[in-house]
Amino acid sequence: MKAAVLYAANTPLQVVDVQQQGPKAGEAKVRVMATGICHSDWHIINGDWTLPLPMVLGHEAAGIVEEVGAGVTTVKSGDHIIFSFRPQCGRCLYCSLGRSILCDGHQSVRWALLDGTCRMSRDGADIFQMARIGTFAESVVCPAEMLVPIRKEMPWAQAALMGCCVPTGVGAVTRCANVEAGASVVVIGCGGVGLNVVQGARLAGAGMIIACDLLDNKLAYAKEFGATHTLNAKSENVVERVRALTGGRGADYAFDAIGGDATTIQILDAIRPGGTAVIVGMAAMSVRAPVTPYMMALQEKTLKGTMYGSVRPNLDFPRLVDLYLEGRLKIDQLVSRTYTLSEINEGFTALRSGQVARGVVMFN
Ligand SMILES: [Zn+2]
Ligand SMILES: [Zn+2]
Repeated sequence: MKAAVLYAANTPLQVVDVQQQGPKAGEAKVRVMATGICHSDWHIINGDWTLPLPMVLGHEAAGIVEEVGAGVTTVKSGDHIIFSFRPQCGRCLYCSLGRSILCDGHQSVRWALLDGTCRMSRDGADIFQMARIGTFAESVVCPAEMLVPIRKEMPWAQAALMGCCVPTGVGAVTRCANVEAGASVVVIGCGGVGLNVVQGARLAGAGMIIACDLLDNKLAYAKEFGATHTLNAKSENVVERVRALTGGRGADYAFDAIGGDATTIQILDAIRPGGTAVIVGMAAMSVRAPVTPYMMALQEKTLKGTMYGSVRPNLDFPRLVDLYLEGRLKIDQLVSRTYTLSEINEGFTALRSGQVARGVVMFN
């Protein structure tokens, strides 16, 4: 079985043959059909996020269940599934509240199976799996509770993106911020996640959707996804332009789809008093942003974070699939390039250059 393994930060992934154990109780084995290349993988490759290595990266994927371990009833062999990169025990405080993205019912590390052991190895040495899945591999053994069955009509590349960028962006609008019809929305960053914030705002009926990026090709995508206004932050001041477009007041909502100190302050400055700013993109672990407490209080602003769009995977992934199959959610346009597993490092080069909305590795 082939997998793309990270052995050391700032080195290319190595596509190598690995050994894989079958699923134990509560686990399933999935044949991966497609997996997206995301900035979160890049954060591990470049050392922004320090995790134990070697590790198979990849967390945005879809595939076919091949085998299930003892006691598994939620999926069966032959099911088409989207991987959720967070487990959901179903019993903890957060699962009970309907906020399973924050599930704390499992104590084991996030880079091995729920019993703390690994299912993948090479030459006798364990290989960890990113987010307990690690989908840059021909097959994955993972907790069955991380697999969400979907309709079989859903095409693979599009299904893969339902595992990270689509729910993260759309959910940030519909699950976290609860944007209402007619509202004004600012989106900073128009990559895979940001474009889904834009189309989430369109689905929610936002009146004005202002998309910001440094690259004109991404702003052109944003128009296609529903932005009513675009601005290139290289040549224009985001906060000034947003205020000019909103009667001097600022927008009702602003989303940072990049994640960083400067953009956190931008979304706070771009909203009106009483508005809501949402951090969607994942920054490097060490970044801190200088918020002005005086202004937060004086202007009653809200700053929120959202992980995975605060979605409920069992409910939201099938809904997003329905929206796509009804033609109401654009995903085809996000899949700008496909790769084989052996070409995966080219996919990261393209991701960093901003050439693509989303690169997807396809298996056959
Ligand atoms: Zn991701
Ligand atoms: Zn839980």
